[in-house]
Amino acid sequence: MINLTDLRIESTKVSELMVDSEKVIHVQLQNPLEHALLVLTKTGYNAIPVLDLRSQFCGIVSKSSIIEEMFGVESIEVDRLHELKVEDVMNKDIPTLTEDDTLEKALHVLIDFNFACVVDENHKMKGILTRREILKQLRNHFYRQQKEK
Ligand code: AMP
Repeated sequence: MINLTDLRIESTKVSELMVDSEKVIHVQLQNPLEHALLVLTKTGYNAIPVLDLRSQFCGIVSKSSIIEEMFGVESIEVDRLHELKVEDVMNKDIPTLTEDDTLEKALHVLIDFNFACVVDENHKMKGILTRREILKQLRNHFYRQQKEK
């Protein structure tokens, strides 16, 4: 059994675990959907952050939301990928974290989302926190405990 008491869930900060913004793949509000679909396909991610020109976080765009837009009543309308922009299909209703938030708060958000965007007071994206980083933390903690036994 992993002893969670010294995992520091209440004191570990999001800033200690997040992926920095320079390593985060994103698209911009005004990008056409075909660009977003290309980025999502090439990176293998199902969803990525959407930023405005000032690097402020605006929402996330997912492969499934783009593909859904392509389905017309009777056929697949590929032309819509040139016509529509990321801002037309992105999900804006996404919770964010700050660098000072705790791992405890992040866990609540990451139950419902694969990743969460970390923003500053001006909503500028500082990075993302992913489930993978949390699981890595848990794994390292487990091995530390095994060594101490
Ligand atoms: P993971 O926990 O590493 O599987 O990441 C969860 C989700 O976070 C992925 O499915 C992507 O949607 C997003 N994600 C992870 N890393 C990046 C990155 N470097 N840039 C953009 N999005 C990412």
